[in-house]
Amino acid sequence: MEKRYYTKYESMSREDFKRWQWKTLKEQIDYSYAHSGLCQRQFKQARITPDDIKTPEDFANKVPFTTKQDLLADQKERPPFGTRLSVPEKEVIQTFLTSGTSGKGQEVHTFTRADWEAFYDIVSMIYYLSGWVPGDRTMNPLPLGTTIAAPTHYLGPLKLGCEVFNLGTYDTKTKLDYMQRFNLTCIFATPAYLETLTAEAENMGISPAKDLKVRKILTAIQAYPVSFIHKIEDKWNAKVYDYYGSTQYAEGSTCEKGAVQGEQRGFYHLYEHVSYLEILNPETGKPAEPGEFGEVVTTPLNRKASPYLRFKLLDRARYFPHNACDCGRPFSLAEAGTVSRYDDMMKIKGVNIWPETIDELVFTKDETYEYQGRVFISDDRKEKAEIVVEFKPGIAAEVRPKVLAKIADDIRDRTGIGFDVKEAKQPLPHAVFKVRRWTDERAKGLEKKA
Ligand SMILES: [Zn+2]
Repeated sequence: MEKRYYTKYESMSREDFKRWQWKTLKEQIDYSYAHSGLCQRQFKQARITPDDIKTPEDFANKVPFTTKQDLLADQKERPPFGTRLSVPEKEVIQTFLTSGTSGKGQEVHTFTRADWEAFYDIVSMIYYLSGWVPGDRTMNPLPLGTTIAAPTHYLGPLKLGCEVFNLGTYDTKTKLDYMQRFNLTCIFATPAYLETLTAEAENMGISPAKDLKVRKILTAIQAYPVSFIHKIEDKWNAKVYDYYGSTQYAEGSTCEKGAVQGEQRGFYHLYEHVSYLEILNPETGKPAEPGEFGEVVTTPLNRKASPYLRFKLLDRARYFPHNACDCGRPFSLAEAGTVSRYDDMMKIKGVNIWPETIDELVFTKDETYEYQGRVFISDDRKEKAEIVVEFKPGIAAEVRPKVLAKIADDIRDRTGIGFDVKEAKQPLPHAVFKVRRWTDERAKGLEKKA
């Protein structure tokens, strides 16, 4: 694919870009301090004012981090939007929550009209850099709800002049029917869901490469082995692109080169024109060295409704400097397909799930003694979450299926995700210290040839 820039920032030199970015960050710091109660409290605690932030080094050394807990406490202090709400309430035109109702709580993110238009413009840019052009027909597989991803995957490509089929409420077979009937040229799907689509197409006697017109695939959210992208590109005769994104405004996408080139992984070109992004070594707090993994920290720029500074995403990404890719964009890079987490949050079917949530639902049943969970790709190529439960001694055999069914219902009610809940065939390991109950076998499952 030829090189196409979506913004003026992509053709700037790194020096010019960083100069512009610093000026914009300074304005955002001033704005946040002037309007956000959360920011004022943080600066007071750190005994600083915006006047103390004169250089990027000052910013890195003096400005405190913002955590998920900070946002939740702020919401509690002034429900529902928190003291960080920095515009009159009537200017808020969209409110989104982070996914995964859990013991950890959901963050509330508000948007003015300008904030919202800027947000889905970022998604337009992701699609643009992935080669989507006017006249393309694409699939948005996400159902509309109170999380941000679904509407952006509708409005983002629509803004580019693509036709978007919103198929989020349909099953896999119906989605494939639409792809075939309307000659969709591109699709968006997570790696695990691409695996499911591929297997289902083959079950239906459809060869994606021969019988479908899909030639561009955008993926996101999960880590994957390089061989998985090769497999998908072969089976679909399509090029796979990938992006990194979050509700909290840390975004980036692969460029024309896609998710892999030969055996080489591609890079997320971090959208530093919309956020001031840092990738920090968690031990030293210093910027990660080229090739090193670090934690992603984001400060959204030009954000009016609910600004915050230096939000710790707990995402673990592998940093590379802008010139590690030769496409010329001045943005810092993160390796595609290798992002993981510093905490034990799992993204299951695109939904954030914390093990604590499952712990609570399992251990509030009097009959249960221990459990173990795993996330994997099933033999029929579907993303599955399963838990096996060990009962306390003396629990009658006829009670057990009811308890298992109740646990499954409760998990579905709380998370929206169906888990297979079974009885353990043998006693499970019990540890005195914090038990690691979960294994994630998905990347391994994607490696297998279907
Ligand atoms: Zn590039």
